[in-house]
Amino acid sequence: MIVMKFGGTSVEDAAAIDRAAAIVRGRLPDQPAVVVSALARVTDTLLATARAAGQGDREKALELSRGLRERHYATAGELLGTGIFTRFHGELEAEFDSLDELLRGVSAVGELTPRTLDHVAGFGERIASKMVAEAFSARGLDASQVDSRQCIVTDSTFTRAIPQFDETNLKLEKIVRPLFEQRRVPVMGGYIAATRDGVTTTLGRGGSDFTAAILGAGLSAERIEIWTDVDGMMTTDPALCANARRIKSISFDEAAELAYFGAKVLHPATLLPAVQKNIPVRVLNSRNPKNEGTVITARAPKCRNLFKAIAAKRRITIVDVVATRMLMAHGYLRSIFEVFDRHKCPVDMVSTSEVSVSLTVDSNEAIPAVAADLQKLADVKYEGRKAIVCLVGENIRNTPGIAAKVFGAIPDLSVRMISQGASEINLSFVIDEDDVPRCVQALHAAFFADPDPEVFGEVMQDRGRK
Ligand code: ADP
Ligand code: ASP
Ligand code: MG
Repeated sequence: MIVMKFGGTSVEDAAAIDRAAAIVRGRLPDQPAVVVSALARVTDTLLATARAAGQGDREKALELSRGLRERHYATAGELLGTGIFTRFHGELEAEFDSLDELLRGVSAVGELTPRTLDHVAGFGERIASKMVAEAFSARGLDASQVDSRQCIVTDSTFTRAIPQFDETNLKLEKIVRPLFEQRRVPVMGGYIAATRDGVTTTLGRGGSDFTAAILGAGLSAERIEIWTDVDGMMTTDPALCANARRIKSISFDEAAELAYFGAKVLHPATLLPAVQKNIPVRVLNSRNPKNEGTVITARAPKCRNLFKAIAAKRRITIVDVVATRMLMAHGYLRSIFEVFDRHKCPVDMVSTSEVSVSLTVDSNEAIPAVAADLQKLADVKYEGRKAIVCLVGENIRNTPGIAAKVFGAIPDLSVRMISQGASEINLSFVIDEDDVPRCVQALHAAFFADPDPEVFGEVMQDRGRK
């Protein structure tokens, strides 16, 4: 079997869902299981809706919900014939009524818990999976919607829950596997899951890719296909640099570094389950399905270029901790990290000197509380609106003088922290967020002027569609 995941833009409207159905039909001999995201931008709106309700703004919450309701009715109307639409409209109506009831309750109390937030956020994928399954069936595909909450089991870390793989795999065998024997196409919502007790959770923003990988690993898929709105993993975000080229083939390690450092085309946790089972992942464009996309496998072919790609992660804060007493005293670093740990605030980069430690974090909300706690140990300063730029490639390992080449290409940019060596295949550094486009374009021009044709494909055409 294979897993095919369609992201938000690949199911954004009736035309997109129609294209997805045709793509799935072409793969029927491979026994596809389909994972879908919410329609494009729906999760953002749901989160705004929940927040409005949490602030007691009932009117705004219900107005946003009404917009979503109308969009889903209209899309379903375009996709389904009158008979099926009448039945499905009733189902949608009941779902949106229950969402509104919940929003009224949250508004009345004026408090939004992470648990309720996940319940609202997951609504988009639940509805999308039902609608896509109906549309597939109406197009002659034998589709069955599966509620992801019945098979993806997580802990209760709401908004970024952690899958419990053993329990999940048992459920996948029991609920999804038999559908293949009946020649049916399972259609599941990504991003959404549930605790052992059936409480709705989500896997973090962009988490539908992760669902696809959990499903693929659990059912030992032959491959996992991530269908999106670009031609594959590109040498950098094409939204930042029009000259970005398709990467034909890249290793799990390289792709994982890129995803972690901001290449949003893949959720950072996606590759782990695939690596463990050595399942190839393909990134493909649902608007250009003939394109070969990018294949991600254990070993990538040799590459003439120094780097495979450049990623940028924005909304980073640098925290400087300056010791009033001796920094390297035994246990000092541990006490600093314990503070971040206590606030569940992950640290990306670290650099130390005799008296100070600088760290980067990507959670702005936690910073004031973290800083207040750190203040008990040392002097603390923090500065937001930074970005980490990361260059990735297996050749970094064996090439001397890399830093000189990289910083030579961006001589007029002010660089804060630098890190090389942590993974051997990445060089990263921190700059001001506003400098990201200029920096990435300069690096791209310097390192991808003569791309190795074995590894890199074409520049993406027709980028104006988004
Ligand atoms: P989906 O809704 O299909 O999950 P996302 O919006 O999450 O799609 O991810 C696709 C987007 O990722 C692209 O439109 C592109 O702007 C962005 N992106 C960032 N870095 C890269 C990269 N290196 N290669 C391709 N796309 C990238
Ligand atoms: N719909 C979710 C989000 O926007 C999950 C996803 O698209 O992968 O974050
Ligand atoms: Mg995504």
